[in-house]
Amino acid sequence: MFDENNLKEPEVMLSDCPVCGSKKTLEVKNITENIPYFGDILETSVYCTNCGYQESDNISLEQNDPSRYTLTISGDKLSTRVAKSQTATISIPELGIKVEPGPKSQGYVSNVEGILSRFEEAVIRAIRLEGENIDEDVRENALNIIELITNIKMGELETVMILEDPFGNSVIDDEDATRETLTPEEASLLKTGFTTIDQEED
Ligand SMILES: [Zn+2]
Repeated sequence: MFDENNLKEPEVMLSDCPVCGSKKTLEVKNITENIPYFGDILETSVYCTNCGYQESDNISLEQNDPSRYTLTISGDKLSTRVAKSQTATISIPELGIKVEPGPKSQGYVSNVEGILSRFEEAVIRAIRLEGENIDEDVRENALNIIELITNIKMGELETVMILEDPFGNSVIDDEDATRETLTPEEASLLKTGFTTIDQEED
């Protein structure tokens, strides 16, 4: 057996391309992978051999109790592992930062420092997007957030990071982190990033 790592070649199905309309040129691959922290993930990718259109999507196959992790972060927690699934919300209330899942959200495994850097980059991107016409208050607030993030990284500021996931597939992997199970009401208030269609009765 060559198959030491139990790697399987994904099955490829051919479908019609939604972009160029060619028949049977779209290669559709489904791979199920077991990823640490996230459990079984179904990765679907498509590629059109005619026009080059490609897209991939990860869907978690596991559903656990809705959870909230809370950790006081400071300089000595920068390397703490954080696994954020595509349905998780991360917030740092003291900085007024909250990142909710959107339709294009991806799961990733990083650490506290990596999360802080992502926040920093997002704030910088937002300032750039506003350009020269940026509101003075908005600019000041953004620069203040960047300064506070720097203070946390330098170990000069302690603050609380919260990771909430209605499907319980996210973890702050630190012995000092608190894990709570959310009530169904609390979980229902969280965004999932999935497109939902509201049904109105009338
Ligand atoms: Zn195509």
